[in-house]
Amino acid sequence: MKESSEVNTREAEPIIIGAGPAGLTAAYQIGKAGGTTTVLEADSVVGGISRTAERDGWRFDIGGHRFFTKVTAVSDLWHEILDSEDFLLRPRMSRIYYDGKFYDYPLKATNALRNLGIWESILCVLSYVWIRINPPKDQTHFEGWTASRFGWRLYGKFFKTYTEKVWGIPPSELQADWAAQRIKNLSLFKAVINAVLPKRNQKDITSLIEEFEYPKFGPGMMWEKCHDLVIDQGNEVLFEHKAEKFIHENGEVVSVTASGPDGSVTFPASSVISSMPLPHLLQAMDPPASSEALLAASSLTFRDFLTVALIVPEDKGFPDNWIYIHSGDVEVGRVQNFGQWSPYLVKEGRTCLGLEYFVNIGDKLWNSSDEDLINQGIHELQVLGLVDPEVIEGGYVVRMPRAYPMYDNDYQKNVETIRSWLDTHAQNVYPVGRNGMHRYNNQDHSMLTAMLSVENIFGASHDIWQVNVEEDYHEEIAK
Ligand SMILES: Cc1cc2nc3c(=O)[nH]c(=O)nc-3n(C[C@H](O)[C@H](O)[C@H](O)COP(=O)(O)OP(=O)(O)OC[C@H]3O[C@@H](n4cnc5c(N)ncnc54)[C@H](O)[C@@H]3O)c2cc1C
Repeated sequence: MKESSEVNTREAEPIIIGAGPAGLTAAYQIGKAGGTTTVLEADSVVGGISRTAERDGWRFDIGGHRFFTKVTAVSDLWHEILDSEDFLLRPRMSRIYYDGKFYDYPLKATNALRNLGIWESILCVLSYVWIRINPPKDQTHFEGWTASRFGWRLYGKFFKTYTEKVWGIPPSELQADWAAQRIKNLSLFKAVINAVLPKRNQKDITSLIEEFEYPKFGPGMMWEKCHDLVIDQGNEVLFEHKAEKFIHENGEVVSVTASGPDGSVTFPASSVISSMPLPHLLQAMDPPASSEALLAASSLTFRDFLTVALIVPEDKGFPDNWIYIHSGDVEVGRVQNFGQWSPYLVKEGRTCLGLEYFVNIGDKLWNSSDEDLINQGIHELQVLGLVDPEVIEGGYVVRMPRAYPMYDNDYQKNVETIRSWLDTHAQNVYPVGRNGMHRYNNQDHSMLTAMLSVENIFGASHDIWQVNVEEDYHEEIAK
């Protein structure tokens, strides 16, 4: 923090931390209810993980961001913010690359049989029958949970390597929650039934979302427009203002201090809606939180993310929105084709392939120069046989810290400890969103938790921690 400090002259009002989907939704809802608020954003752009990065006129997501929700209030809000002509309805196409072959995703029986061959298919089915008779004793972790539903053989082919890439730990150390959130209700048996039955008979939508909405200039377009609306309502959004101190007394936070470009600024707060990482919120409390809560905060960790975006002629891309790379020969985990998401993201006759790497801040990949990462990306596309290095015209690197809240063995206990400290000492603080609640989520969860928290500020009493937008909605297995 710089030397100078000032106190904001606005009266105590709700202060919002973060201008991602959760923070901007909260600000917009407060504005609609006739209130005013100040949003503090550490970065210089809106959208958080749902931003659309822009380099030399190319636009790309941090991963691809589909707009799909079961929550009407959320989809209504999307359509309130953007005009209908700003949305594209995109067909979904994705495949899994494994052992030199492409598997349709979701699974199609004929394609899987052709790729695996008859003997391997029989072995997979036998392995499934075996696990139904001898289920793994421990199904509290990802490995046991998933193997019990698909058999060890299919687990080894389609789940193990990718999961290790995403999380950087053995799947036996990852809580089953992640699998339950992503694969819920799907098993080999159901997948085969789904592959065989006509579409209209399929009740289980897990992994079967075949089209989705997408703002034509990417998810960032939603949050850029939402930001403009929030400003028109008379609210403030302050960029490069990182919330660093929360003064609390008598069980409530009374002010938030942020470090800004001109020094520190203190904002009197009537309440706080926080989408900053939950452990960072706890660590910024003044007086400090209990040693037990601080220990829980320092034990919550994240997985970080970077994209190497490579420009290629349009006809050198592929028809998929993205391809999962279940191959241990390369470090890349997934490849997006942004031209297949929206032609407005790319330039005439060209497309942009986004190679996704799951990393930890400070590790070899994170610390590599952009040039080295681009060269690695080009080399890995060649190893995979996806794109010839000679046709690649340029590249960019985008890094995103804390993209994934880590679901390790103790995360629930640690979140619980922090919650209970906040419930007593900071009752007017509402943690919302992805890292704000340490919840592996999509935008709809972030938005709904923000909307309900605003209602709580105006007198409602929703239990935000019970919000579950995935009751009926599950994405794809391998995400
Ligand atoms: C690879 C990938 C693919 C995804 N795909 C999809 C998808 O297809 N569909 C979908 O709906 N969702 C998807 N998501 C999830 C989506 O990105 C998140 O759910 C959403 O961005 C979370 O919004 P949020 O506002 O809760 O948090 P964030 O997006 O993390 O925003 C939090 C904001 O708070 C700011 N901040 C942090 N600390 C401070 C501080 N101390 N002071 C001030 N500001 C601070 C950050 O800079 C950030 O702008 C995906 C995520 C990833 C990683």
